[in-house]
Amino acid sequence: MDPSSPPSSILIIGSGVFGLSTAFELTRRPFFARTSITVLDRSPDNGVFPSSDASSIDSSRIIRPDYADPAYASLAAKAHEYWRQQVDDELGGQGRYTESGMILLADSPSTAQADPKTGLGAKQVEEKKKSALEYVRESWDNVRALAAQEASGLSAEKIRELPNATAVMEAMGTDPTIAAVNRPGDWGYLNGTSGWADAEKSMAWFFNKVRQTGRVNFVHGTATALTRTGDRVTGARLDSGRHLEADLVIVATGAWTGALVDLAGQAIATGQALAYMDITPEEQAALCRRPVILNLSTGLFVIPPAVCQLKVARHSYGYINPQPTSPDVLPTRPGARLPANSTSLPRTLLSDPNLRIPSEGEADLRRAIRAMVPLKELHNRPFVKTRLCWYTDTSTGDFLIDYHPGWKGLFVATAGSGHGFKFLPVIGELIVDCLKGRRPAEFDEKWKWKGNDAKEDVQQLDKHIVTEDGSRGGRPGLILAEELAKDNSLKPRM
Ligand SMILES: Cc1cc2nc3c(=O)[nH]c(=O)nc-3n(C[C@H](O)[C@H](O)[C@H](O)COP(=O)(O)OP(=O)(O)OC[C@H]3O[C@@H](n4cnc5c(N)ncnc54)[C@H](O)[C@@H]3O)c2cc1C
Repeated sequence: MDPSSPPSSILIIGSGVFGLSTAFELTRRPFFARTSITVLDRSPDNGVFPSSDASSIDSSRIIRPDYADPAYASLAAKAHEYWRQQVDDELGGQGRYTESGMILLADSPSTAQADPKTGLGAKQVEEKKKSALEYVRESWDNVRALAAQEASGLSAEKIRELPNATAVMEAMGTDPTIAAVNRPGDWGYLNGTSGWADAEKSMAWFFNKVRQTGRVNFVHGTATALTRTGDRVTGARLDSGRHLEADLVIVATGAWTGALVDLAGQAIATGQALAYMDITPEEQAALCRRPVILNLSTGLFVIPPAVCQLKVARHSYGYINPQPTSPDVLPTRPGARLPANSTSLPRTLLSDPNLRIPSEGEADLRRAIRAMVPLKELHNRPFVKTRLCWYTDTSTGDFLIDYHPGWKGLFVATAGSGHGFKFLPVIGELIVDCLKGRRPAEFDEKWKWKGNDAKEDVQQLDKHIVTEDGSRGGRPGLILAEELAKDNSLKPRM
């Protein structure tokens, strides 16, 4: 985009955190006052943006400035100021944000889990650039440094070290005689100023705010391909056959991005396991004021319940779902080859209503309930539903916010890497700064499209992306279809 002359039209594909926040910020900038803005989403429900299976939609998302990387810690603290605005119609109001506190934990390295059969986890643990324990210690340093700055809104008195497993269990109210295998974590801290947001309600609030500007045209439909002329992207072709043209196309399609743009070497879609358990009003009353618990060695986390439903999940390497690469995918530059073999793409309840998480994941979530929830009556209670929710992961856990280097007229804003939600109130501003060529210095390298030069053989390159920022639990390299097939082979035959 010519920084001195605004595009006459912008098409944003995807209305999750990245797409919607970008649309809102464009409406605020005088520079884009004459630009027509269209937001397209595959959401099948009339008037509902984003779609119900988007990563941005769920009962809850953690809002924390607790990051090992000081740049994200500061940005999250800035976003946190908006979440804390809780007068009725503000972002954090009407139950959209709850400041429950959060216990961030890690296991000591000797107890970090590895796959007993393949040893893959152990190898990854050894080779990891950063261990979960290092991540939590750096995060502890960062939040205390932020709390020392009055403007951050964090309070040093509310940040408390939990120096050993006993202190952790005391803070959580769990049974200290619990078997070692079910211990919630060995070291960590409580940050009383972190919390969680009702993601679905927050997105509905934000969508309404964008709609009320009267500047954005919302369109339902699935982009099946980006259209191009020469080396320029000119718009998108929809499943209906319609063509939406635009001077500038912003792809903000989250984990589905690989279906439109070749992301080999950039990012990969990974499925994460979640489960929900119904609880009684009494159980809800006992749990709703407890903190979020997140163990970065196992990835397991529990968020306090709000509507008589308890959610447990795993922030992990996730499952990959390799699919044949469509010939409609935009190659890295005009004439470049596409990855011949596969692209990991989401599989969700919208396309597959009977989808369950693999038993491997469900067993881990059960472990979380037993280790992290103080009410024993819940330890064996069945889950009422499970869900695979899709991260768009980069190898460093950084976002991908940049012009595409191989095509004019194309900008990519994605790769939330499992932590993008909390930035809803601030990320649009930074995305539009990047659009205008003013990427914040602290994110310059982090958010760049990584060079494709040495990627002659791009086959299956996406499989090599494993997020190693120290925050991921579980085992890398699990393939969804293989894990589900194991479960099917265990089912009794009729
Ligand atoms: C299980 C889970 C837990 C998480 N926990 C946290 C947390 O605790 N805290 C936190 O800060 N972050 C968390 N995250 C991360 C956060 O939710 C994501 O980073 C963020 O929501 C990503 O937003 P997005 O806009 O990139 O993607 P999405 O929200 O997925 O939006 C993409 C949109 O694009 C649309 N789309 C896709 N393809 C097309 C197409 N071809 N045509 C038209 N529309 C299309 C989709 O329908 C969708 O609505 C979590 C994510 C998951 C999955």
